[in-house]
Amino acid sequence: MEDKEKDQENGNEQEYEKICHVCRRTESRAGQMFDLPGGICMCHDCMQKAFDSLKNGGIDLSGIQNMPYMNLNFSDFSKLNVPQAEIPEKQKIRKKTGEPKPSFDIRDIPAPHRIKASLDQYVVGQEQAKKVISVAVYNHYKRVFAKENQKEGDDVVIEKSNILMIGPTGSGKTYLVRTLAKLLDVPLAAADATALTEAGYIGDDIESVVSKLLAAAGNDVEKAEHGIIFIDEIDKIAKKKDTNTRDVSGESVQQELLKLLEGTTLEVPVGTNQKNALSPMATVNTDQILFICGGAFPDLEGIVKERLNRSASIGYKAELKDRYDDDENILRYVTNADLRAFGMIPEFLGRLPIKVTFQKLTRQMMVDILREPKNAIIKQYIKLLEMDEVKLTFEDDALEWIAEEAIRRDTGARALRAILEEFMLDIMYEVPKDPGIGTVAITRQYLEKSGGPRIGMRV
Ligand code: ADP
Repeated sequence: MEDKEKDQENGNEQEYEKICHVCRRTESRAGQMFDLPGGICMCHDCMQKAFDSLKNGGIDLSGIQNMPYMNLNFSDFSKLNVPQAEIPEKQKIRKKTGEPKPSFDIRDIPAPHRIKASLDQYVVGQEQAKKVISVAVYNHYKRVFAKENQKEGDDVVIEKSNILMIGPTGSGKTYLVRTLAKLLDVPLAAADATALTEAGYIGDDIESVVSKLLAAAGNDVEKAEHGIIFIDEIDKIAKKKDTNTRDVSGESVQQELLKLLEGTTLEVPVGTNQKNALSPMATVNTDQILFICGGAFPDLEGIVKERLNRSASIGYKAELKDRYDDDENILRYVTNADLRAFGMIPEFLGRLPIKVTFQKLTRQMMVDILREPKNAIIKQYIKLLEMDEVKLTFEDDALEWIAEEAIRRDTGARALRAILEEFMLDIMYEVPKDPGIGTVAITRQYLEKSGGPRIGMRV
């Protein structure tokens, strides 16, 4: 049994490179290592230097970190009971194995209807967006597969299908992308366009988003190259109007993103998003990375409405003028021309060929978000109270009140948790006080502060 454990231990050890305890170089850089007692290794060069210094006057090296045994007689080492020196985990560098990594397999990617069915379990409504994205993602990975298996003479090259998501805040854009990445088991990096600036200015370089993706892929370059990058608040990098200064966080960022979206090879720092002389670099190709950009585009509705009303006021469509004034989901008519008028440059829009719009959440959608998804908010509270053996229920009109309040706050579904948190605090504080309580029903009166929750005692 002991032998077996030892073998296993040795087997695992062999996967790691040895590191010289003096100069910190790995075996692949410094050459073969000397194994010293206590699990210490030393490279040829450092060993030679140590011998030389001993010969030239015998300097006491024991005070120097990592070299506690230098003044000992080497022949006595074997008799010493030296504890195993600990090599910090991050200094263990995996050996590069010669085996080829498994290539990307199209069979790992589910068909669009299956992607959508999985999304349905988490994301409420947004049917068109879910459909478009399921197809776009499926096609993206087909393209990746086709490119990796391209035969000679095959001239058909499938172009990249990066996605632009437009929709009000809190309507599920980020949530959908996160769910998607989890379902497909691909690494995801989410970044905020507001933090990005042109290279050389204060703020994050564009490359920092690729660094983030690499980190999300556990520094595995091949995995990162098949990942998803989500850039939120993309509307904030619209061209600034009426400005005489250099637009380092607007148009310039769009310009710099162009190459990334199209596919380029970048040197990105590993383990940090700041380039400096000490950080190791990795080469990442963004050609097979799926880019999804999202934004609320606050004034875009006005631009679309104006265009539609303008075209409606001429010719046979004249009677339709003002028809769009009360349309809540006017954004579904958005065109590239509207986005250009908003301040996005045409080259940038050209690299995001798939555009999806998200609907503003309705009262019914809010209620469904509260109770339907797999990880629905009220399911979480029910589970929390279940641990106190208390049965928690929410009455239908109470859920409707929460939905109405969320609509009033105008931050989309994000408001739901905040509202619930306000009311559940007292419940979660008071209920565990009284072990006799068996059921709690949240009523509309309680939320409206005109009554209390309905409490039932254990029988
Ligand atoms: P945004 O559109 O601004 O990116 P988010 O996706 O971050 O909004 O939404 C905020 C939160 O609201 C999410 O974490 C999620 O819990 C919830 N949410 C928003 N829209 C939906 C939806 N359609 N279905 C389920 N939950 C949603």
